[in-house]
Amino acid sequence: MSDILALSIYATPMAGFLAIYTWRRRAHHRNSVAVRDEATEAGLTEPASLHPIIDPNKCVGCAACISACPEMPGHQVLGLIHGKANLIAPTECIGHGACLAHCPADAIKLVFGTERRGIDIPTVAPNFETNVPGIFIAGELGGMGLIRNAIEQGCQAIRSIQHKAAGSRGNVLDVLIVGAGPAGFAASLAAKESGLRYATLEQESLGGTVAHYPRGKLVMTAPARLPIYGKFRFRETTKEQLLDFWRGVEKDTGVEINYGERVESITRSGNHFLISSDRTSYQARTVLLAIGRRGTPRKLEVPGEELPKVAYRLVDPEQYRDRHVLVVGGGDSALEAACAIAEVPGTVVTLSYRSEAFSRAKPKNRERVEAAQADGHIKVLLKSTVDLIDSDHVELSHNDTRIRIDNDAVIVNAGGILPTAFLRGLGIEVDTKFGSA
Ligand SMILES: Cc1cc2nc3c(=O)[nH]c(=O)nc-3n(C[C@H](O)[C@H](O)[C@H](O)COP(=O)(O)OP(=O)(O)OC[C@H]3O[C@@H](n4cnc5c(N)ncnc54)[C@H](O)[C@@H]3O)c2cc1C
Ligand code: SF4
Repeated sequence: MSDILALSIYATPMAGFLAIYTWRRRAHHRNSVAVRDEATEAGLTEPASLHPIIDPNKCVGCAACISACPEMPGHQVLGLIHGKANLIAPTECIGHGACLAHCPADAIKLVFGTERRGIDIPTVAPNFETNVPGIFIAGELGGMGLIRNAIEQGCQAIRSIQHKAAGSRGNVLDVLIVGAGPAGFAASLAAKESGLRYATLEQESLGGTVAHYPRGKLVMTAPARLPIYGKFRFRETTKEQLLDFWRGVEKDTGVEINYGERVESITRSGNHFLISSDRTSYQARTVLLAIGRRGTPRKLEVPGEELPKVAYRLVDPEQYRDRHVLVVGGGDSALEAACAIAEVPGTVVTLSYRSEAFSRAKPKNRERVEAAQADGHIKVLLKSTVDLIDSDHVELSHNDTRIRIDNDAVIVNAGGILPTAFLRGLGIEVDTKFGSA
């Protein structure tokens, strides 16, 4: 009798716990499958850079990797399916690598690229120099993503450059830094701190990829040291706060960065490099490429494109409230930008594309545009090209006719020139990784 009583005292709560555990695991499984299927249906299956692959034979389903991922719970990157960890939203993975560090079963490997899509990684020595002596690479371009890594690498690369370049004479700089994302910004501060003669050219604005995060994005990072300024201790902040902080450091330190200036070519000339930008040219003993992996947006090459109302990415649709906006392009970014702006009250949106159909875009985006067009929220001009951009209007060729449209802003989403071609053009060796470390 007493045995039965003891059994029921322990068995009942055990059965309760087991039921709750099983219910939660099933709910987790269902949710993970839904996230994975949604990502697959939307074609979002290829991670941008470094990401985990999980060996199901080793995974014990403890979910430590899921809890460790800094992007959770805002973004569901990893999930459990049939009791095993899976990368359920591959494009949300930004390569923190915390999953690897927390896995007790050694089931995770971090790799670049997948079987279907290779990722080009330049060959870089431990001192950040490429196979082209005098050209260095730091930050995400070299394969190592994340803000803190980019900052660290920018500083370390300058230390290597210092040994090699200091003491240049005449008009020759010690180092020309390309890009002012976290790597290029930190490198510029380090160059100033070290007394190097430097110039930093940035085709857009301070912050690089960070400046293009969605509004209010929570940024996870780790404390790091910025030269001249000292330590900063953020772990979690917003995109806006981080950019404000960097702008403050820029102002306080007096570090100089030339914004809106794009490097177009780099050639060797004797014992230094000749760097041509879209404004002028420079000579430098060494070059540090901190250009990230997003590439350079393709330009339209039409008169008026230099006006400040022309942008190459949509950051915040709200800024176009009550404006006449022209979006140029036929890929997903163009269609998504046009639809997002058209949802803002008071906007008048025209979408111009040179081909006769949006065949490159996902069906979901094509349907969105068709619906917005039917409701009169977007005017679509297929087989059209932009001829001229002026302060208050644009002119386009459409069906052999020149048309003029009132305009306050232009967003060009005409694709980009990826860094690989640029690197190969400089003679830098690039290795394509298909799911290897
Ligand atoms: C959506 C998203 C969310 C992320 N969230 C986080 C996060 O929470 N925490 C984290 O640590 N990391 C995060 N990352 C990753 C992080 O943003 C990048 O790893 C980091 O910005 C890389 O820094 P970088 O300086 O190497 O390159 P980038 O930040 O890409 O900067 C490169 C700069 O070079 C400029 N450039 C390129 N070509 C030229 C040229 N020819 N001439 C002049 N300038 C040029 C570009 O305009 C750009 O400003 C995220 C990334 C994405 C996409
Ligand atoms: S931490 Fe390792 S063992 Fe645990 S679920 Fe993730 S991959 Fe599997």
